[in-house]
This record gives sequence, C-alpha cells and structure tokens, in this order.
Amino acid sequence: MLLPQTMPPSARTLVLITAAGRGSRAGEGLPKQWRMLAGKPVLAHSVAAFAGLPLVVTIHPEDRARAEACLPGVTLIEGGGTRAESVRNALEAMQDQGYDRVLIHDGARPLVSPALIARLIEALDHGPAAAPGLAVTDALWRGEADQVAGLAPREGLYRAQTPQAFHFDAILAAHRADPSGEAADDVALARAAGLAVTITEGEEDNLKLTWPGDFARAEAILARRKGAEAMDIRMGNGYDVHAFTEGNQLWLCGISVPHDKGLLGHSDADVGMHALTDAIYGALAEGDIGRHFPPSDPQWKGAASDIFLDHAVKLAASRGYSIGNCDVTLVCERPKIGPHAAAMQARLAEIIGCEPGRVSVKATTSERLGFTGREEGIASIATVVLVQK
Ligand code: MG
Repeated sequence: MLLPQTMPPSARTLVLITAAGRGSRAGEGLPKQWRMLAGKPVLAHSVAAFAGLPLVVTIHPEDRARAEACLPGVTLIEGGGTRAESVRNALEAMQDQGYDRVLIHDGARPLVSPALIARLIEALDHGPAAAPGLAVTDALWRGEADQVAGLAPREGLYRAQTPQAFHFDAILAAHRADPSGEAADDVALARAAGLAVTITEGEEDNLKLTWPGDFARAEAILARRKGAEAMDIRMGNGYDVHAFTEGNQLWLCGISVPHDKGLLGHSDADVGMHALTDAIYGALAEGDIGRHFPPSDPQWKGAASDIFLDHAVKLAASRGYSIGNCDVTLVCERPKIGPHAAAMQARLAEIIGCEPGRVSVKATTSERLGFTGREEGIASIATVVLVQK
C-alpha cells in the first residue's frame, strides 16, 4: 500500500467515511452501504480501501451494532439528520486529534483505488482542497416527456466523485460557517467559504453504488481486480558459458552426452542447466547460482547441477510461483544436440516437476564464428516465466 509513504512526514491525514444515510434507490432492504458485495458489506470494502490511514465512520444510530461487528477497531461517530451534519459532527469530534488533512469519502464508493487517493493527498501539498472528477464525454441532452428537447453544452463539465480532500481546519471552518446542514457536498461548502478546489483525475471504477445494477457492475470490477492479482507473472533470463577441456563426455541439461571433449567447471559444468537455473533466480530477483552456491565452497566441487535447479524451483515455490514454461538454447557446433533434445527435455521437466510440454530445449550453431564457432566452449541462454500458483 503506497498511501502513508506519499505523505510528508509532518502531515497527518484522517479519513472520514460517511455511512449514516438511509438511501433507498438501490432497492429494498438494507441501506446500500450495508448490503453485501462480494462476500462483505459495501462499507467494509470502502474502509479497506484506505488501509494504513486513520479512519472514522459516521453511522446511523440504528446501525451501531452492525458497524461494531463488521468494522472492528474503527472509530464510529453517530451522524446527524443530513450528510453535512454528519460530516460536521465527525470533524468537530476529531478536531483536537492533531490531523491537518481530511479525506471525506462516501461509504457507498467501495472501489476507490490507492492511486486515486495518492493523487488527492499530493494535491493537498499545493492547495487547501481537491476532489476527483471525470470530464463529461457523452453529449448531454435535455429531455421532456421522453423526447430530446435540446442539447446542453458539456464543455467544462465534470462528474464529481469522492473522496474530497481538504486541509482539516479549512473545511471545519467552512462547515461552521454554514450551519444549515443543507450543502450538497463538502466541495460546495469549501467553495462557499472561498477555498480553491483542485480537480484531480477520477476513475470510472470509483462508482457510487446507487442503483440495483451497480452492485453487479461492482462485483465484476472486483472479480477483474482479483483476476489481475492472480495473473502475477515473472520473467527471467540466464546466460552461461563453459570452456571445453579434455574428456570423453559432458553434461548438458541433465544428460550425459558422449563427446571427444569435456566441459571445464567447478561443478559438473552443465551449461544449459546453469542458464536455466539463473533464469529462475532472475525471475525472483534472487541473484544467480554463485550467490546461493558459492564456487569458493568446496562442497559444490563436481556437484550435479540438478541440485542448483531443484533449489531454484523450490525457492520459486516458496514464494508461490511455479514454472509456466522455460526455453533453453545451447550454442555449439558439436556435439549435435538434436539426438539428445527429447531426453534433455524430459530430464529438466522431471527435476522441475512439470509436464515436458512446458520445457523447451533447442540448439543453434554460431556459424563457426566466435568461441563457440571455434569449438572452444559451449554457451547457453535460457528464458523462464513463473506464474503464481
Ligand atoms: Mg556455469
């Protein structure tokens, strides 16, 4: 959550959520802020959106037991007869608590995002008041008896959202200056008190649940967000080189391949498996093989490289990732890889613990150019994608 870090250390920001209303447009039954949305009350979503910031909620006196049950630890303040009265009650109750900023939010807007909140808090560095708005893009009609009676200009028009953000003392003074309790919202009061109100960027998803259909739309947005979280993917690449030395076989991707040379290395010098292992460490931002298995440590001398790959796969699993797929390319003139590629694929899949279809092993020459072309050694590159389990 990025909210607290966006504030200057000296600024103390209070969140004030209004939930005392009794609106009935959302259909029969409970007031909309208490109706269930994706398994919990709308208001609980709204409160959760501000995690990390101190928060008070204005409630209707009849809702106290319900609020205490579903918002444990949240300061509850009984609202007044109108929204403006409720906000003023809360501001008066909190005025001695040392807050210098306040975000006033509608409890029926459960989908407000951290980015929108951060933009508001930042705007308060430059002025006494800010609120999110969305420029009107649709044409606006004036209608009479289901007939278009005229076109209204949309230039300069915005759809207002919450939270509305203020310097605490300024908005409290604005409320005190208009004790009627009739103001439409806090921006109206702020403007009446002469405060400049900056329009920050609103979001289509920050909808106010008003009509019965809004609940289905909000559920769809929450499901989409959950899906986006589940789709967390990570990519890594790895590159390795080992020089030829005397010998009659070499290890490549976990398979012993007969050859007229061997590969030189501290471990078994399996260049393909090393590149793949480094790709996994890379995807996890966990360095490389040398960090986890220092070459200075004699216990890894001559080690079979499946130890390294197994460690990287388990590290990924401990972070909640599995191998989506991987692709290893060996670069050499000889030995020919083709006859062994299927065995290499099967062996890597076995170590990783995935089906072979997620593992690719292929080879190329470098057209006799460079150190691989001169048959001084073998290079390998690997790419891996990790997906959240
Ligand atoms: Mg190596």
